[in-house]
Amino acid sequence: MFDAVLARNAGETEFHQAVYEVMSSLEPIAGRDDQYAQWSILKRICEPERQIIFRVPWVTDDGEVQINRGFRVEFNSALGPYKGGLRFHPSVNLSIIKFLGFEQTFKNALTGMPIGGGKGGSDFDPKGRSDAEIMRFCQSFMTELYRHIGEYTDVPAGDIGVGGRELGYLFGQYKRITNRWEAGVLTGKGLSWGGSQVRTEATGYGTVFFAQNMLQERGEDFQGKRVVVSGSGNVATYAVEKVHQLGGRVVAVSDSGGYVVDEDGIDVELLKDVKERRRERLSVYAEERGGAVSHTTRGSIWEVACDVALPCATQNELPEEGAKALVDNGVQLVAEGANMPCTPEAVKIFQDAKVLFAPGKASNAGGVATSALEMQQNASRSSWGFDETEAKLEEIMRSIHATCVETAEEYGAPGDYVQGANLAGYLRVADAMVAQGV
Ligand code: GLU
Repeated sequence: MFDAVLARNAGETEFHQAVYEVMSSLEPIAGRDDQYAQWSILKRICEPERQIIFRVPWVTDDGEVQINRGFRVEFNSALGPYKGGLRFHPSVNLSIIKFLGFEQTFKNALTGMPIGGGKGGSDFDPKGRSDAEIMRFCQSFMTELYRHIGEYTDVPAGDIGVGGRELGYLFGQYKRITNRWEAGVLTGKGLSWGGSQVRTEATGYGTVFFAQNMLQERGEDFQGKRVVVSGSGNVATYAVEKVHQLGGRVVAVSDSGGYVVDEDGIDVELLKDVKERRRERLSVYAEERGGAVSHTTRGSIWEVACDVALPCATQNELPEEGAKALVDNGVQLVAEGANMPCTPEAVKIFQDAKVLFAPGKASNAGGVATSALEMQQNASRSSWGFDETEAKLEEIMRSIHATCVETAEEYGAPGDYVQGANLAGYLRVADAMVAQGV
């Protein structure tokens, strides 16, 4: 079956990796999968329902015409409208969007909420672009995307390179073209125009809540734990904030230019100021924060000793050597805040060393779960307070954690969060697909 996926999607290495990871977990339900066989569930689940690729022309401040490629992969709608973020990054291609859409399908299923899976984006590089250029790009992107999305069809949100500013421009263009104030068409909106409290914080907070649940299984918590968080974008920043609130100390963060070690604990307000507001490099943080050390040429963040590692940057950022260094330095727990940040070799090293390991589709599901809460608020034209929304997020993460633990146990792999997450997500999607016919 995996060979068929390889042949049909030649060269799409990230997509292959994501499919292989899920398929490797399905052995315990082979018998049950026979019952699904007549419906070819596995074959159908690996093929997106729809893949849209489009041209995105836009004009720079200098009057030059640029062309980028836009994508939206509508992967699976068994459980609800397609749901998943948009990524703007020069590395974006069909393979990356398909792996993300595939992961999203099972992640969304794990939340227990009525959302299908999808993902989109562009190879547009926002780095160094002016605000006006970002706006024109977003407007052009939406000029094609609008016809494919809607509250009951497909609901995009942010991902790498797409935050509050970009979602604002995208929403404005959708509204302009359709003449509809349709709040539920996008999530991650600003608070004054249909957004939800806690959505900005949700992926990072959720990852830490998940890790907290894992620690609690062992009778521990974050108090006094030394933590390393890779990345310094939206997910990483709010992961750092929540670790500190729970009594842990984050001693290192990173960006594409290197990493910073701050033994006093990362100053979240300075981090937000440098990365979010000023959009500067992380080395600026070290320049302005006494005692922090910036590493830009040698080594990797995974060489920094810690009890807990939260990879929150991007796919395949934590390779085998990184995993070995973490294990040698005594790491106890790794929870993925990004999507597929650990390579398969790294995951194996953690599992062989009995390090608690949570796959992103479980541990980073808090972002999309809060998007689903935003959709609920939009549908009922209500808005909830911060504490109420955060309590819901915490409860959702507790429930995803419980689902993983129980499913892993049920299928003979106690303590294996990868098996638990993959099996529980797959079964929920597969059952809905069986019920809905071919
Ligand atoms: N991009 C986020 C993720 O990877 C959130 C998607 C959403 O909120 O729809 O799950």
